[in-house]
Amino acid sequence: MTGPAPPGYLAGLFRSLQGEGPWAGRPEVFLRLAGCSVGCPWCDTRDAWERPPSFPVAGGEAEPNPVEADRAVRLAKEAARPSCKWISFTGGEPLEQGPFLRALLPLLRGEGFFLHLETAGVHPGPLESLLPFLDQVSMDWKLPSLGGRDFRPAHKACLRVLSSWEGGKAVKIVVGASCPPSEAEEALGEALGICPDARPVLQPLTAPASAEPEPGALDLCLALAWKWGERAPSLRVLPQVHKLLGLP
Ligand code: SF4
Repeated sequence: MTGPAPPGYLAGLFRSLQGEGPWAGRPEVFLRLAGCSVGCPWCDTRDAWERPPSFPVAGGEAEPNPVEADRAVRLAKEAARPSCKWISFTGGEPLEQGPFLRALLPLLRGEGFFLHLETAGVHPGPLESLLPFLDQVSMDWKLPSLGGRDFRPAHKACLRVLSSWEGGKAVKIVVGASCPPSEAEEALGEALGICPDARPVLQPLTAPASAEPEPGALDLCLALAWKWGERAPSLRVLPQVHKLLGLP
């Protein structure tokens, strides 16, 4: 790396349970990175789309942005007391701050943490550069009928990067009642065709302020799950568990 690493912008640092995907329920410290250019209509973290002047820290005072990697490590260690071992990077879109994470991740690894990345799966270059420092990646495959944008080329590029990596990997497809069933099924087939050891998750769409799946969305997920039992035995249909539990 040339020159000092740029500082990062956070939208929050807090403790909670992992709320999505095959590792749901695990206690983690979350670093919510600020900034996202993806613009999902169902996004429940819109306050993390922009870079705020400060960010809330669970159990402490608000901290100013931007934050150097050393200060982020200190804050994460304090939040992890007495013995949380997992740190999750969420957003916003963490990979839009790749150089900051490239400085931060090795420091956290050096402190003995396991590191989990949640990503929209649209930035294959930064993803590849950070994989040596990560233990798990959970990426989205976003259906064009829901978000109005087609990210399939970028999703495929990210999955190609993940396919040769030995860490834990999951691909999450949010399914809404209005999605054509064939679209979700094609996404599942394409994703597992590229990265067969990714653990697929179908997540029925919820409104941003709700924990209840949109009517009809769960039915679509269930129909697909029954159909794909043999081809994808690790497939799971899961809600956003943290919302059900009233956690951040
Ligand atoms: S990628 Fe994530 S943070 Fe960005 S708009 Fe979509 S759901 Fe929200």
